[in-house]
Amino acid sequence: QSQELSQVQIDYHAALQALVEDGTRMVCTGRMHTDRICRFESLCYSTEAEEFVYFHSNSSVMLPNLGSRRFQPALLDLSSVEDHNTQYFNFVELPAAALKFMPKPVFVPDVALIANRFNPDNLMHVFHDDLLPIYYTMQQFSDLDLETRLFFMEGWSEGVHFDLYKLLSNKQPLLREQLKTLGRLLCFTKSYVGLSKITTWYQYGFVQPQGPKANILVSGNEIRQFTKFMMQKLNVSLEESSSEEYIIVFSRTINRLILNEAELILALAQEFQMKTITVSLEEHSFSDIVRLISNASMLVSMHGAQLVMSLFLPRGATVVELFPYAINPEHYTPYKTLATLPGMDLQYIAWQNADREDTITYPDRPWDQGGIAHLDKTEQERIIKSTEVPRHLCCRNPEWLFRAYQDTKVNIPSLIHVIRQTVKSKPGPKKQKWSGSLYPGKVRDAKCQASVQGTSEAKLAVSWQIPWNLKYLKVREVKYEVWIQEQGENTYMPYILSHQNHTFSENIKPFTIYLVWIRCIFNKNLLGPFADVLLCST
Ligand code: UDP
Repeated sequence: QSQELSQVQIDYHAALQALVEDGTRMVCTGRMHTDRICRFESLCYSTEAEEFVYFHSNSSVMLPNLGSRRFQPALLDLSSVEDHNTQYFNFVELPAAALKFMPKPVFVPDVALIANRFNPDNLMHVFHDDLLPIYYTMQQFSDLDLETRLFFMEGWSEGVHFDLYKLLSNKQPLLREQLKTLGRLLCFTKSYVGLSKITTWYQYGFVQPQGPKANILVSGNEIRQFTKFMMQKLNVSLEESSSEEYIIVFSRTINRLILNEAELILALAQEFQMKTITVSLEEHSFSDIVRLISNASMLVSMHGAQLVMSLFLPRGATVVELFPYAINPEHYTPYKTLATLPGMDLQYIAWQNADREDTITYPDRPWDQGGIAHLDKTEQERIIKSTEVPRHLCCRNPEWLFRAYQDTKVNIPSLIHVIRQTVKSKPGPKKQKWSGSLYPGKVRDAKCQASVQGTSEAKLAVSWQIPWNLKYLKVREVKYEVWIQEQGENTYMPYILSHQNHTFSENIKPFTIYLVWIRCIFNKNLLGPFADVLLCST
């Protein structure tokens, strides 16, 4: 036993010596605080000051070295929500010599991923802001594997969905509060700080009204790789050949209720000749919900965070999102955006209650459950009269909350009508034909030959070879787009062609230089890159 202890002591002394001599080393990716993730050796955290500490020594490294721009506004976002001022990361600096006067450091031997969860009690936020970004941040850096230790620094307790976070690594995630019990000065041997935003698809309306992110970079393929991982961890197997098709009504039991749920279930079952079942977060285990959703043909639910579970629907399934009275479905599209990501292969349908008679409001509830009794009378009256919540910023707009927490009696004929406009026969899961969208490469060996007839007529014969990758692909339709631009002009003449050569004679002048741009197009909308521009003199 004494040997084990001394072993630990030697490690400890070696670690301490390395910290004192080498200090902290930081190298980051990303050009701005909003896209930065940093890798540290010997980053420390004072649990008393509740601040990260960077120790300077002769060997320390700080890249980027931003000087005071590090505070304008921060080194990086600790959550995946862009530029949120409660989610910034920074550190304070000290000379390594100060360690002599500080509490003895406690070293964290595991590779750490340090981040903030954004709103761990809301399932949409859990998946969109935390689980997917953590999963893909771990895919980005090879030393973040299943032995990674996750550190959640936002300061919340575990929250109701903590079991989901635990699936991402084999080690128990640690919360900010728990760090105090480990020591006064913690030093992370190796750590990554920050989360990748590459998988997020929605912005919640902090600076402009909510909506899809401007530049979505994730497709259904990556979402489904993630859900496959989660299902393996949850021990939910994909039942490929399960025969019975069914519809799920995902219900809420506390608020934003469907008042005629029984009637709705009967109507769906009858209309689509399918078994129809209800699930809710309150009454089913998470694994059971995933198991059921992953084989469902259709998911029907009130707008709300539980709809993020359409992540687990099979390709070809249909999502039906129900919106309470006065809530414009076009203004709240986190689940529509998810369902319609390229390669998710889900059908999305929104239904809105258009009938004031079918809504139940709760003006006397607390404000955060949609109550409006605290507002002055004229404002209350205006809200009650209004037929649509105007676009607004997050997160406390009383008119939005008032309408969002209404209960709804779903008008069955109107709902079935809306669904039937999209789902003509039986709904989903289709046996998926391979619809992989692969893009063409550049056309090759492009050539042009000019011929002049007299002083006013000329022809341009252009030819090229197929893109190199085409000979390995089965493509339904291959077309070529050719742009002919007179040198020095801003405009060009576009042509769509089926063959690999064409002689242009319209509008071709003699003794002129033309720039010819050629690209290949697969199946009408898969545009390849332009080949190097051809210079052709007539
Ligand atoms: N929730 C639920 N049943 C309810 C009300 C809420 O399961 O009756 C869940 C909901 O899915 C979300 C969390 O509780 O994960 C917070 O719900 P809230 O209404 O605040 O958010 P929203 O669903 O509008 O995003």
